[in-house]
Amino acid sequence: MKQIYPQCAFCPVPDGERICQNLEGRGPEFCPTLHKKEETDRSLEVLKDPEILHFAQQASIQEAECYDRRHERPFVMRPVKPRLQEIIEFSRRMGYKRLGLAFCEGLKTEAKTTAKILIKHGFEVVSVMCCAGGIPKESIGLEADQKIIRDQFEPMCNPIGQAEICNEAETELNILLGLCVGHDSLFMKHAKAYCTVFAVKDRVLGHNPLALVYNAASYYRRYTEGQD
Ligand code: SF4
Repeated sequence: MKQIYPQCAFCPVPDGERICQNLEGRGPEFCPTLHKKEETDRSLEVLKDPEILHFAQQASIQEAECYDRRHERPFVMRPVKPRLQEIIEFSRRMGYKRLGLAFCEGLKTEAKTTAKILIKHGFEVVSVMCCAGGIPKESIGLEADQKIIRDQFEPMCNPIGQAEICNEAETELNILLGLCVGHDSLFMKHAKAYCTVFAVKDRVLGHNPLALVYNAASYYRRYTEGQD
């Protein structure tokens, strides 16, 4: 029998009538709320760990506090906190003092400003650039034509090294700033502390990858048609 995987992205049920948002609601045949109860309930088992529970509670409290005038009815969403403020407040909530900042060389100016802001807000910041270690790309078996600039020394992005440095410094939360696709994955896999993403890299769209999605019906329609 063919397995039906969840397809929430294609949910046909209108907002507010969805079973995941409304106990009286409904869901389609691929609905994980209706058909993946065992899996979703497993999260409650994980959350029995007091440390994880505390983290989850604080994340949700922070989420709510990103909106103003929550006492008003009807409630109209009024978000008031930029993501960096959210990170600062969440870190304070958790009692974190030492933050890791793993950033890409291409965003070193932004990293400096970000680190300064975090320090001004009372944190100790361990910032590590992607090419820390200065290890040549040849070390991971790359050939000259697999480098950006073929005929000169090029340090590899070293997200595992960034994670190791943050681990050694015992950072309590790691903030990712502009790491490449895949390099970010390696960092998150090898960092001991929880990670959050401040910004992702998009070399073409000013680090705003959703610009492509917002323009998917117009200038970037080729992607919706399966073209690169
Ligand atoms: S959980 Fe179910 S109801 Fe909610 S978005 Fe997914 S498919 Fe739709």
